[in-house]
Formats: sequence, C-alpha cells, structure tokens
Amino acid sequence: MTQAAVIEPRSGVLLTERQLASLQSAAAIHLTFNLTLACPLKCAHCIVEAGPGLRHTTMPVDVARHYAGQMPDLYEYGIRLVSFTGGEPLLAREQLEILSAAAAAAGMTCGVVTAAHWAVSEHVAARVLDGLPGIQIWDISIDAYHEPYVGIERVRTAYQTAKARGREAVLRFAHHEPMTERDRELKAFMLSFAEESEICAQKVRSVGRASDLPILNSTDDSTFAKPCLTKGLVIRYDGSMAPCCISLVEERRHPFQFGDARSRPLTEIHADYMAHPLLQMLRVIGFGPVMQWLEEAGVSRESLGPMPEDVCDFCPKIVTNPQWAEYLAQRASSPENRLKVGILARNFLNEPGMLQRAVKEFQDQGKQIEGFELAARLANHGADPAEEDRGCASR
Ligand code: SF4
Ligand code: SF4
Repeated sequence: MTQAAVIEPRSGVLLTERQLASLQSAAAIHLTFNLTLACPLKCAHCIVEAGPGLRHTTMPVDVARHYAGQMPDLYEYGIRLVSFTGGEPLLAREQLEILSAAAAAAGMTCGVVTAAHWAVSEHVAARVLDGLPGIQIWDISIDAYHEPYVGIERVRTAYQTAKARGREAVLRFAHHEPMTERDRELKAFMLSFAEESEICAQKVRSVGRASDLPILNSTDDSTFAKPCLTKGLVIRYDGSMAPCCISLVEERRHPFQFGDARSRPLTEIHADYMAHPLLQMLRVIGFGPVMQWLEEAGVSRESLGPMPEDVCDFCPKIVTNPQWAEYLAQRASSPENRLKVGILARNFLNEPGMLQRAVKEFQDQGKQIEGFELAARLANHGADPAEEDRGCASR
C-alpha cells in the first residue's frame, strides 16, 4: 500500500518519505506532561477548553515528584525529549520546576508551551526564565484568539528574553485556513523579529471549544492512506493518558488506554504505547485497513459523512465509537497483524520494540503463525532497516 502525500501538520510543507519517518519517530523518544487545564486565558479555539476556573485539575505536587523520580529510568529506556503543556503549565510552577529539573538532570531536553501572559516586562520575563533553567525550548503561543487576553508585545518580550538567555524560542501560530487578514498581520508581526523557521504554524482545529468550526473535506480517498503523526504519549494531570496532543488530547473515549500513570512505571506504559497494535498500525499504515474492516462489519463510508482532508479530523469519528473501537482494537491484535505491523515499525521507523515483544510472546506460547520465521529473524537482527530486506510490501 502506498501512502498519500503527507503535509506536515504544523508547517504545511509536503514531506519526503525520510522526513515523514523522522517526524513519526518522535513518538519513540518523546513524552508530554499536561500539568493542568487551568489557564489565565479562555481562548475561543482552545482544544482542551482550558480556563481560569480549572485550578482543581492541576497535577498534585507529590505526583509530579513521583514522575520526577522516574526520569533516570526514562532516559535509560530511550526518552530524550520531555514537553510540558496545559492549560498554562506555568500556573503549575512548582510541578514544572520539579519535573523539568529532574528531566534535565537525567540528560533530557525539556520544552514548554506557554501563552506568555507572564512576560509583562523584560525584567519579569528574565526572572521567569531564570527560575526554570531546565527548560531549553520555549514554545510561545500567538494567534488571533490569544490576542484579546495577551497583547502581542508580551509574545515578543518572551521570545527576545528567551533568545537573549540562550534558550530556543518557537512561535506557535494557529491560523485559519485560508488565513484571515488578521492572521497575515500576525505573521508579518512575527517576521519583524523572528526567523520564518522559528514560526511553527498550525491550522485552528475544530476540537474542544472550537468544535463548531468547519472542517476541510477531501475530494478523494487519500485521507485513508495518511498515517497518524502523533508526536507521542501524553500523561495528563489526573494520571490518565492521551495518544497524542492533537484531536484526542482531552478525549476519554478512545481505545488507547494504559491504566493509571500514577501507579504504573512510565517506562512500562510507554513500551505498551509503542506496541499498541491499533495505534501502531495507524502510525505505519494509516486508516485504510481500519476502513476496510469497518466496511466488512457493515459500516458504509457514506454513513461516516463527508471525509475530512486531515486524518486527525477523521480519527475521532472512528475511535470514539466504543463498539467500533473495541472491534478494531481486537482485529488489530491478531498475531498475524501484530507481526506485520511490528515489521513495518521496525523497518520504516527504526522501532523494533513491538516486533521483539510479539515474537517473544508467541515464542513463549509456542504459537504457529504465518510469517513467524521472517519476523523472528528480523526481531533478532537489531533495528537497522538497511541490514535486511524490507520484509513486507511497501506501505
Ligand atoms: S489555547 Fe492555550 S492559552 Fe488559550 S485557553 Fe487554551 S491553554 Fe490557555
Ligand atoms: S488524532 Fe488520531 S490520527 Fe491524529 S495524532 Fe491523534 S491518534 Fe493520531
């Protein structure tokens, strides 16, 4: 199966196969903590519906300490990048300090996504940055929906102060598609002090508070061939988890459940995440087989309504239906499918973990499975796709 041309969801750039694989690989080394849904702002496009009245959602400090104690294990396991989001993560200041200091001490790079309400002056912004020495990457949000709450001058102050203190600053710009006049003005404002490469643009999503925004529909079947581009597992403030920081970030009805992060080692959870048959199938193949399985179960494409252009607009239509999610997760868990997806993840994303886990499990159970010999040979042969033939038809 061949994948459709894939556009990077933030920059809008058409990706080569190598760039696509590199983007997809982020999930293997990246972990996000959503610290709170509290936020001094109440933006009309907020995908997690954050706001000032949600302080009760904030991750308790002792839970943050519990996660912080696991940072050396996470580094050893392979996590290299830890992100903090919310809400406004700087409202959970103590938790942010504890977690980022522990992650940085363990050797990981830390990033935070913030609306920069705190950058009231250079002096105050410098104090905030100096108080969080473990955070190297500062993602500063700017768009037409933040503007009524945080003047764009504060964005510039936060950006310039971060740069002056040797940190990496990224301007996270949510825009309409096509861009409005104000979107274009904001982009020009950013370009007056930042490089184009420092602007991380993404379209405003019809999720959360903006769920009534129109969705761009596809004119063909290409959506099915696009892969899930999750940047990795999200640990929420309450110990629950999300498979991505996009359309399912605050959604509870999905099949990607890994228990309670407060009572399981994070390394174990992440290993389960990277071996989840349905999720990994969506990452390496896309939604084509999923749609085919649904059709075999009597669900017509027409009954799903117009097909969105963006796979993250399509995904919730499928995975938030409990019956469909259970059926799909079950089919994806068949031994043959686990081996096939495991081989693809190993060969295309350089992620051998799922395959190695499946091979060991089936070996221990003495199961006879078609294609097992090839799978076992690949699983025992490390992770370099160049070493072996690709093993499966191209994606
Ligand atoms: S979009 Fe960001 S800044 Fe705005 S309410 Fe949501 S979390 Fe807060
Ligand atoms: S919404 Fe679905 S397809 Fe998009 S990143 Fe999340 S899990 Fe993947």
